[in-house]
Amino acid sequence: MKIIMLGAPGAGKGTRAAMIADYFNIPHISTGDIFRANIKNGTQLGMEAKGFMDQGLLVPDELTVKILLDRVAADDCREGYILDGFPRTIPQAEVLDQELVKMGDKVDYAIDVDVPDDVIIDRMSGRRACLKCGATFHIAHVPPKQEGICDKCGAELIQRADDAPETVKNRLTVYHEQTQPLIDFYQGKGILKQVSGTGAVKDALQDMLAVLI
Ligand code: ADP
Ligand code: ZN
Repeated sequence: MKIIMLGAPGAGKGTRAAMIADYFNIPHISTGDIFRANIKNGTQLGMEAKGFMDQGLLVPDELTVKILLDRVAADDCREGYILDGFPRTIPQAEVLDQELVKMGDKVDYAIDVDVPDDVIIDRMSGRRACLKCGATFHIAHVPPKQEGICDKCGAELIQRADDAPETVKNRLTVYHEQTQPLIDFYQGKGILKQVSGTGAVKDALQDMLAVLI
């Protein structure tokens, strides 16, 4: 099972991808988390990616595609995976397709998590993320059990630099220009599934399973 999560930044792709990954017992691969881990570890890749991310811009396709293809080549991806935050541009989607075709494989579903821009802005301003395990929370809507502490791993929660208000505006513009066209791309392939991203988090898994046939 190979699934792609589409949706604006802050749509809740990460939370939903984690649920699907658990349910199907497949790896949850977030390019944003990979970049953040590299930044934290001070790698060359991290240093290159950080400048783009902090401005709300996309990391260039060349860098992004390489790390993604390396990751999906790993052993634990043989039974499938869920991609969260990749592809984010048409060229990224085309490369992924070509690589899968070479292996006689394909993407099974692209799930688009639909959320209006005004809701996105509210969510991102309250979002807090765990630097250690990548889990995300919201101060009002998905609060951690203990303020400022990750439920999953106990590490400290922070507001990501790219969740700052001016950066959020850039990210939404970039989303509409570069990522939204992927909705038509996967619709054209007949594998697009749409879910509303404004329903209750507790119903999210059922909502997604209901559209996956
Ligand atoms: P969100 O979905 O909330 O924007 P992510 O954690 O998925 O957050 O991504 C954070 C940042 O990492 C993006 O704003 C972008 O700079 C970079 N990034 C992640 N995935 C990609 C990708 N597929 N292509 C280019 N840049 C990416
Ligand atoms: Zn954590």
